[in-house]
Amino acid sequence: MRLQGKKALITGAAQGIGKAIALAMAKEGADIGIADVNVESAEKTALEIRGLGVKGVAIKLDVSKQEDVSRAFESVTKEFGALDILVNNAGITRDTVLLRMKEEDWDAVLNINLKGSFLCSKEAVKIMAKQRSGKIISISSVVAFMGNPGQINYSASKAGLIGLTKTIAKEYAGRGIRANAVAPGFIQTAMTDVLSDAVREEMKKAIPLGQFGASEDVANAVLFLASKESDYITGQVIHVNGGMYM
Ligand code: NAP
Repeated sequence: MRLQGKKALITGAAQGIGKAIALAMAKEGADIGIADVNVESAEKTALEIRGLGVKGVAIKLDVSKQEDVSRAFESVTKEFGALDILVNNAGITRDTVLLRMKEEDWDAVLNINLKGSFLCSKEAVKIMAKQRSGKIISISSVVAFMGNPGQINYSASKAGLIGLTKTIAKEYAGRGIRANAVAPGFIQTAMTDVLSDAVREEMKKAIPLGQFGASEDVANAVLFLASKESDYITGQVIHVNGGMYM
């Protein structure tokens, strides 16, 4: 039990990678706040978490809204009495090339993927700094490092998360807070299910290991960063991408 008694809040945890992270942490003994815009779906995940013998609490949260974020952190501290782990996982895509990208699509992606992580990290640091311990893990992407045609907003938001992570790591190391990022490549989830078979096959050619990853591959890296085993690691990025970026 690598996370026995730890308290975690995971954003966008109703499904996909966030849900896999929630289940992996719960299996290691952590109580989990499952925060998502889709509260019905978050409640289903919470039920599965409780089935593992730990606390699982569904929280309605739009990470881009300050009022929602304040309320979510209040309810998680009231429920758990502490916060040891924050995973900034909530993310969306609104893809098109630069010249077709509407300002509203830029804003929507930056507001959820980057501003949302800023708002949540700020609330988490308030709690963790008092505790003098905590782990903040943000889910970036391989495209932050490589760029990707059709994803100017998404790539910029995910690159921004790397700067956010390194800055938190430097500002709050003295308070016992570690901040790291995980940068997945192409992972089989609802986000990538929308791709056509032709695009999917083309993408696989760029992956030395020849296949998309599973949500659990990302969850394993997050679990390591959340656990004591990674206590001497901060400001770093773990790449989980089948070798497509080295
Ligand atoms: P997903 O299946 O679409 O899950 C994302 C979850 O976040 C959904 O439950 C979604 O709810 C929720 N969400 C959306 N907007 C939100 C908001 N404003 N506040 C709170 N929750 C919100 O995506 P995924 O593939 O698991 O991706 C998880 C993270 O990994 C994202 O940050 C993504 O960018 C990153 N990532 C994914 C891949 C990949 O290949 N899948 C690769 C690299 C990085 P709704 O469904 O109701 O909108």
